[in-house]
This record gives sequence, structure tokens and C-alpha cells, in this order.
Amino acid sequence: MNNNNNSYKSKINYVLFHLKQHMELSDSLMNHFLFFTNNETGIGIFFNTQFSEFDIDNVKWVDNIPVLFPQSDIDEIFSVKGKSVTFNHDLISSAFFLLSGKQETANFIPDSYGRFPYAESVQYKLNIPHIPVVNYYFEWIIQGIEKFGELNRIEVKRKISKAPFTFALSHDIDRIDRYDRFYVAYHFKELLGIEKTDKTKYNALKDLAICTFEWVKGKKRKNPWWNFKEITDIENKLGIKSAFYFLPNHNYKVDAFYSLEEPRVIMLMNSLINNGFEVGMHGAMASANDEQVLKGQIQRLNKLLHEPISGNRQHNLSFKYHDTLKYLQSAGVKYDTTLGFAEHEGFRNSYCHPFKPFDFDNNEMLDIWEIPLVVMDATLFKYQKYSFEQANKAIDNLIVEIEKFGGVFSLLWHNSYYDNEVMPGIIEFYENMLERVMNKGAIANTAKNIIRVIDNRL
Ligand SMILES: [Zn+2]
Repeated sequence: MNNNNNSYKSKINYVLFHLKQHMELSDSLMNHFLFFTNNETGIGIFFNTQFSEFDIDNVKWVDNIPVLFPQSDIDEIFSVKGKSVTFNHDLISSAFFLLSGKQETANFIPDSYGRFPYAESVQYKLNIPHIPVVNYYFEWIIQGIEKFGELNRIEVKRKISKAPFTFALSHDIDRIDRYDRFYVAYHFKELLGIEKTDKTKYNALKDLAICTFEWVKGKKRKNPWWNFKEITDIENKLGIKSAFYFLPNHNYKVDAFYSLEEPRVIMLMNSLINNGFEVGMHGAMASANDEQVLKGQIQRLNKLLHEPISGNRQHNLSFKYHDTLKYLQSAGVKYDTTLGFAEHEGFRNSYCHPFKPFDFDNNEMLDIWEIPLVVMDATLFKYQKYSFEQANKAIDNLIVEIEKFGGVFSLLWHNSYYDNEVMPGIIEFYENMLERVMNKGAIANTAKNIIRVIDNRL
């Protein structure tokens, strides 16, 4: 164990850093923390840290929460002996495993967008995508520490109360023209089967016909995707300020159908900023694996804006763990908000608060925040194929969990999903959902401001 002491230390510190979001950890309190050996004679809090290899067959369920690294058959989370508290399971390793994204550093076959597939994840295998398991671990740890404080007359202070929760709404701007020549070509390819689609031939033909019909009208064509006034009006009405992520790569095959330098786009971005919304980068496909491309795109975007960007979300959630994060960090980006599963709503790192990812190459915490993406529109309707009723139920269940821990409900809604032609009734669904979230007492904030609040708390 000695050879690995530093490695263990940085993993423990990583977990403690995040625990500090939830409670005060003074030196005098931490002096009582024991990780590897139980001090039988003295008084302390023994964490039972082992850092063994993860084995899914060993997982132990306590109160419907999976403990990934159990150390005994005991159901109680901690035991009290004299004035000492002993955790009966290795909660530090369990929290580290999920929070750090360790599973994404293993060998896996990426999906067609280069992503870590949901089916490979421990969240899928244990059926826990909707449970912020790390928050439950932290709650258990805090309760154990509170018990110790009570026994030894040491004050233990929590930082986050249960309510209210935070609402981080965002929009990825992939498309701004519903009927342009790229779309005519795209639908034509769909019809011929050159472009992958799950549409019937009839629907592909119908889409091509509608698109061509509008396109030939030239300037008189309607454009349901230039809908920024509608989107911001409803947010202003409900007291929401959201973030808009723009794609800097004008390459319609994989990225945007528009160009960042178009005067209407420059005007739009700056008018959003001037009205209290946030503008960030929607990292193009090629930037996930290429630091120079990523940096070039940030520069290109910043040159056009009144204030430089703070955050990013990768287009198509295309991501290379942890390289993309390292590129973003070195470019000075403050946060990323890509990490959610495309195929399933919920918590990819089993945590409902922003966190700092871990760099396994250098065995240290990265200096960039990740605001985990909890729900994406396409997840609900393209991947899960939910009805509106099922989608509402899935969202409500997630919010129940987030409310328990005063966490962050982050929702991605593409402007191209604010369109009843794409799905009849979806605008009404979306607006009702926003209203419901706000009626639950959420505090809405831009991602940039959420990070500012957390930085102040730590
Ligand atoms: Zn996108």
C-alpha cells in the first residue's frame, strides 16, 4: 500500500473536496479522520478505505442504494464504539468510483458518436440512472460525522439545505433555419437511403416535399427555428435565465448548418448576453479529440462576443473522457455541461451537483467544473420514445431526488425542439414543464452563475 500512498491520498482528497460542498470540514474535525487503519486506542472516525478492484457481483444494497465497495455484511452504515465512529463500508472508494468517471477510462466500444454507451455503464447494470447515489453516500458520511460531533462535542455544520433546488436550463443551437438548401439536400438523401433515418419512405418524401415547398419561397419562407424571441419571452415570464450554446463549425455534415459570423447570429448572441442570458460554446465534433481545433473555436467565438464565454457543451454529447475536459481547462473554460447519457435521462456520475472531474493520467483533480446534464429533449423523445405523460413522470421522479439534496436540475432543450412541426404539441409540453419546475420552487440560474455560487461556497 505504501507505493500507492500518494495515489490514495489524492483520491481521498478528491472525495473530501466534494464533501466540502455539503458541509464544513475544519482541520480540527479532519484531524479525527482515519482512512486505512482503525486507531483502536484513540478516538476517531474510521472510514474503512480499501481501494480494492470494483466487482459488480460484490455490490451490497442498503436502503435501495448500492454500496459499490462493501466491507462487511452489516446493514448499518456506521457503528459507534465509545466516542468513535466506524463506517462499515468503503464509502470513499464508492463515491470516488462514480464521481471520477472511472468506468469511462476502461476499454469499451464507443457508439457512433464516439460516446461512452449507456449500456456499458454501472448505472445501467445496477439500474440506478435516476438515483444520485453519491449524494446518498455523502448524506451517510455526514450523518456519521454528525454522530461523532455529538459524542465529542464538536460542532458539525452543513452547507446545503434540502430546498430549494437549482434549475439550469440551456439550449444547444445546432440549427437556425428550418427550410434551407442543406435541409432539402438532407431530406433528399434520407429518401434515397444515403442518410441514416428511421423514417418511413412516405414520411421522408413528405418532409422533402414540405421543405422544398418552403425553400423555393425564398425570403418569404417561414422559419420556425428562428424562435429565440418565443424562447426568451417564456423564460422572462417565468423568471428563468438560460444559457445558449453556439456551434462554431459551419460544416453541415456533422456540425452547424449556419455560420457563426453571419450578422444575424452575431446580433442574436450579443442581444442574449445584453438581456442577461448566457452564451457559451457548443463544441463541434472535431474538438472532442483535438485541442487545437477546440482552442481555435473558442477564439473564433470570443472574437464576436461582448464578453468571453465561460462554458461549453459538446455537440451530440461527443466527448473523450477526460481529454476533452483537459483541453477545455487549458483553454480557460470554467465549466463543461456535457456529461449525461444520451440514451437515458438521469445522473451519469450518480451525483446531482456540479463536480470537478478527475484526471487519471496525472492522478489529480481537474480544475474545471462539470454541471452534469440530467435531461435532454432528444433523450425523452428520440431515444426513450416517451409519450408526454411518460416524459413528465420521468422528469418529476428526477426532481424528487434532486430536491432531497438541493441539487441542480439541468435541462437541455434545443431550439429545434421548440417546434410543433417536429412533434405536435411539444411547445405546450415544454412551456408547461418549465412552469411546473418553477412551481416546485426551483431557483433558475445560468450555468455560469451557478458555478460562481459554488466557487463562493467552497
Ligand atoms: Zn448539438
